[in-house]
Amino acid sequence: MDQPVPPLRARLRANYLRDESGALAELLGVARLDPAASQRVQERARSLVENVRARQKAVAGMQSFLREYDLSSQEGVLLMCVAEALLRIPDAATADKLIRDKLSQGDWEKHVGRNDSLLVNAGTWGMMLTGRLVSLDASEAGNAGAWFGRLAARAGEPVVRLALRQGMKLMAEQFVMGRTIEDALARSVDGENRAYRHSYDMLGEAAFTAADADRYFVAYEKAIDAIAKHAAPSKEDVFGKPGISIKLSALHPRYEYAQRERVRSELIPRVQALVERARKGDIGVTLDAEEADRLDISLEIFESVFSSPALQGWEGFGLAVQAYQKRAPFVIDWLADLARRQRRRVMTRLVKGAYWDSEVKRAQVQGLSGYPVYTRKANTDVSYLACAAKMIAAKDAFYGQFATHNAHTVATILERMGKDQPFEFQRLHGMGEDLFEQVVAAGHACRVYAPVGSHEDLLPYLVRRLLENGANTSFVNRIADPAIAVESVVADPLATVSGQASAVNAKIPLPIALYGDRPNSSGFVFADETVSAPIVAQVQALAAKKDFGKVPDADAAGARAALDRASGARIPPPKERAAMLERAADLIEKDRTPLMAVLAAEAGKTLPDGLGEVREAADFCRYYAMLTRRHFADPEDLAGPTGESNRLQLAGRGPFVCISPWNFPLAIFVGQVAAAFAAGNPVIAKPAEQTPLVAAQAVRLLHEAGIPEDAVILVPGRGEIAGAALVTDPRTAGVAFTGSTETARAINRALAARDGPIVPFIAETGGLNAMFVDSSALAEQVVADVIASAFNSAGQRCSALRILCLQEEIAPRVIELLKGATAELKVGDPARLDTDVGPVIDADALAMLEAHAAKMDREARLICKAVVPKDAGPLFFAPRAYEIASLDAIDREVFGPILHVVRFAAADLLKTVDAINAKGYGLTMGIHSRIEETIEAVRRRACAGNLYVNRNMIGATVGVQPFGGEGLSGTGPKAGGPHYLFRFATERTVTVNTAAAGGNASLIASSE
Ligand SMILES: Cc1cc2nc3c(=O)[nH]c(=O)nc-3n(C[C@H](O)[C@H](O)[C@H](O)COP(=O)(O)OP(=O)(O)OC[C@H]3O[C@@H](n4cnc5c(N)ncnc54)[C@H](O)[C@@H]3O)c2cc1C
Repeated sequence: MDQPVPPLRARLRANYLRDESGALAELLGVARLDPAASQRVQERARSLVENVRARQKAVAGMQSFLREYDLSSQEGVLLMCVAEALLRIPDAATADKLIRDKLSQGDWEKHVGRNDSLLVNAGTWGMMLTGRLVSLDASEAGNAGAWFGRLAARAGEPVVRLALRQGMKLMAEQFVMGRTIEDALARSVDGENRAYRHSYDMLGEAAFTAADADRYFVAYEKAIDAIAKHAAPSKEDVFGKPGISIKLSALHPRYEYAQRERVRSELIPRVQALVERARKGDIGVTLDAEEADRLDISLEIFESVFSSPALQGWEGFGLAVQAYQKRAPFVIDWLADLARRQRRRVMTRLVKGAYWDSEVKRAQVQGLSGYPVYTRKANTDVSYLACAAKMIAAKDAFYGQFATHNAHTVATILERMGKDQPFEFQRLHGMGEDLFEQVVAAGHACRVYAPVGSHEDLLPYLVRRLLENGANTSFVNRIADPAIAVESVVADPLATVSGQASAVNAKIPLPIALYGDRPNSSGFVFADETVSAPIVAQVQALAAKKDFGKVPDADAAGARAALDRASGARIPPPKERAAMLERAADLIEKDRTPLMAVLAAEAGKTLPDGLGEVREAADFCRYYAMLTRRHFADPEDLAGPTGESNRLQLAGRGPFVCISPWNFPLAIFVGQVAAAFAAGNPVIAKPAEQTPLVAAQAVRLLHEAGIPEDAVILVPGRGEIAGAALVTDPRTAGVAFTGSTETARAINRALAARDGPIVPFIAETGGLNAMFVDSSALAEQVVADVIASAFNSAGQRCSALRILCLQEEIAPRVIELLKGATAELKVGDPARLDTDVGPVIDADALAMLEAHAAKMDREARLICKAVVPKDAGPLFFAPRAYEIASLDAIDREVFGPILHVVRFAAADLLKTVDAINAKGYGLTMGIHSRIEETIEAVRRRACAGNLYVNRNMIGATVGVQPFGGEGLSGTGPKAGGPHYLFRFATERTVTVNTAAAGGNASLIASSE
């Protein structure tokens, strides 16, 4: 049982998505200084900036290079793309392709001579040189660029590749202290570095597998020992000594909210062991701050270790707090309380935060009611200053570590800080040297965050630094740009915020307002416990009770009776239909909890899948309502001769039969019905035999929304009985079907065999979906996307990945990660939040999967298989992957969590795409590559309804990724797309001779 949540913690949790205006009003009060103090801050900040600029003129180097290529220039973005990928690409051919791809796009020449920095010019010449290598052409002879180009051509691509790799390493070294901890420690006492304290960060991002986590753990242990040894002669207290920074995500492969119990039991002992080791050597340990949805769990871990008896009386354990998060001030209050309870200060590194762009995107995708972070830069600054003010005021609770490169922020801290109050500043290695040289010279302590690692490990970190240096809102970018006046660089964020008409950035719409023409469906993040915990508890209780009523099967007579009723149904006019669908969307969202429960109980849907379905169903209703208003409400006037009006009107066709599958028993069911009704048809909805209860709930809500009972009629029953009766009945004016290709063919034949009108048949069927991965892809990202695409929903999605095609150079790494990541999957009760993979739908599905697996066991090589707990129950099938020798081994869809992996040679990529196309399906496809040319080549070649680049292949969003395939995968048009409704409608043109009665009055009136 969870303990009751203490009030400070509850308040922190309740403010996950705090209202921005309300937050700012409060923060301004906390951060405000009196006018004289404010004036002193301005003057100090100005002087700091002026001195930095004076110095930068003297020693222009990497900073000018980064400024020249900032992210507002195409070349800056291209350069970042090269930096992100080049050093990790194993094979020369792909590396050369990347270089050609990126460098041939930029206008490198325009950067030559714009800046007197040697590095900018050397760099630019280098880029031009390589760029020229690609576009060299006889007409360029005689100019300097061409000369360099010829030189490069003579030297050959390997030399250019080497030169560029060297250049990238140089850039990386700007931000990395050393390849090994020993190198970094040695460098820390070199020259100017001696003036600083250091906190070492062992590079490498999140652990993906248990082996990764073990490797990072050992690396941290070794680093702690090395730092402690290095620090041993020092007489300083723990704050004066070097320390280490730790990322919790590196120490556990499933460091996420949903796995909280496991993380608690496995991660806390690991952190405890590292911190105790650090205590022995008396060197500080700081937990880095990561994504917003990990904040709460990180605090839990911190509290547990901080309060442990082994650390009593020692102040060397601390954590980073991100001011851009709305919960930041509450975290400070909570930490102050913890410190006082434990009777010692918490070493607290206050930062603004490094993941702002991804937080904003994630909140939009998740349909949150707000953002966990501020939407204006000045708001983040004010939050930082308010948090700093709180920390400085609570002397007994904090040893403040103020991490910033912003001169105004620095000046404010100095202004607020009590005379003898111990604290330090922190900066990142490779940034802010010129600023902190002045601060350190004035006698203030500053620590450098010093990343340590090899070139392959540093790439994600490097990208974050390039983003920070290149963003035009960022202080380090602005201070380096002489075109920006000093006054503007040091502008007081409190004044900026007070002067804003609204605290919220209007350029970043709230997630609900993303689409403009209709509201986005609302979601929540499970890590937002105040919101999610009651929902999860209720879903679990309802799913366990299994009290969802009964839905008897209809027989053929029942199906015909439904058609009788539907044929006489009164269909409301378009605008009313749209309003009804919009009401239905609201009701579906209102009933989210019971719907998630029935989805778990009847269809084996995990909680995130259930939430996704509810949102998709609501999106379908709103999207088709929007299209109904746009296309059906009023006739379209057509151009024609005078004296005549010509109008095109869309209308319903008559009873439409919608036959939906069990794998999306809510979303696809509602999507089909909503579309058919939106277009003006009465609908007979025949759900899958396995999921009538979900369908019954959905139809109840549609009726509650005002849709007449005869206009949407539920006909549950067996396909061969009720389904066949509906399809063969001559009154059926159209069929929408989602399911297997075989059933679609049977329906098509049945429709063709009928006498009477030929009616539309909209079929969405299966796919043999493939993902192509070249060696420029990031293996960790690939595997995360593969696991989601192949195993999410137990692989029972039409879009699911079935065949993973790996370029041979990257295959070993991807396969190794795939093994480790599959081993981490939790298979079990779908109503539990920590379950990744639920059951398959029924015994037939299980038998089919087992038969295919037995065949693969004989014919292919098993790569990995997740564990199914013994007590899981009867319908569980372990997700698994097989390596097949060639694509001949598979030519039909196997609907479940079995992934097939095949390797290809780089030169055969397009041949592999052709081989997949030749299977005849065409639903989803994926490509992971950093090379535009490769992506474009695959795009041109791919016969697939939905192509996903550098992301997973599932979870198409209504109106954003209209979904549906071609070939054996379906007829189109795409569900959730702009053309879908037309297929359900008939078109009528009305021509009126307006001159028939009394001549052409309007023509005569306009004659001159
Ligand atoms: C020693 C050290 C350790 C760090 N450790 C961590 C860590 O553990 N975790 C972590 O996340 N970060 C960490 N950072 C912070 C981060 O990487 C950046 O360096 C920092 O945010 C830059 O702040 P600044 O005051 O130097 O720059 P400024 O340019 O003054 O501020 C930049 C901040 O504003 C935010 N911002 C930009 N646009 C907007 C907008 N429209 N709305 C709202 N906010 C906006 C940015 O995201 C960024 O947080 C650390 C920084 C240092 C110096």
